[in-house]
Amino acid sequence: MTHVAVVGGGPAGLSAALFTAKNGIETTVFDTDGTWVHNAHLFNYPGIGSQDGSAYVETLRTQVDSFGVEREQGVEVTGVSPAGGGWPTTWAVRSTATSSTWT
Ligand SMILES: Cc1cc2nc3c(=O)[nH]c(=O)nc-3n(C[C@H](O)[C@H](O)[C@H](O)COP(=O)(O)OP(=O)(O)OC[C@H]3O[C@@H](n4cnc5c(N)ncnc54)[C@H](O)[C@@H]3O)c2cc1C
Repeated sequence: MTHVAVVGGGPAGLSAALFTAKNGIETTVFDTDGTWVHNAHLFNYPGIGSQDGSAYVETLRTQVDSFGVEREQGVEVTGVSPAGGGWPTTWAVRSTATSSTWT
């Protein structure tokens, strides 16, 4: 069972996932891939002179993948609720894409 569920796989969500996974906490990212970074271009971000936004997203994804983050791409989270033992030890994430519940 994953310990951290991150809703959103833009720069913020992937940054959060990077740090939790890096510290040995099992992490799952749910993402509908609507980040505006796909339409952006990075200029003079520290360490990056100029890079296409989608290329940057791919770099972030590769980085979190290397730490074992599970990414559920195309999965929209429609609700988070305590289940069984109660928040935060047990939880459920509901998705419209697959009508699934993650626990
Ligand atoms: C018009 C515009 C132009 C921009 N141009 C530039 C630029 O040229 N250069 C630049 O550096 N920055 C640019 N930005 C800024 C940049 O897009 C943001 O700073 C950045 O996207 C914020 O990252 P974030 O992770 O907080 O959110 P987002 O990038 O919005 O990521 C959120 C992610 O969560 C997903 N999501 C949302 N709800 C759910 C849900 N319920 N379940 C699952 N997934 C979900 C979305 O699909 C998305 O993939 C621009 C922004 C805008 C609006």
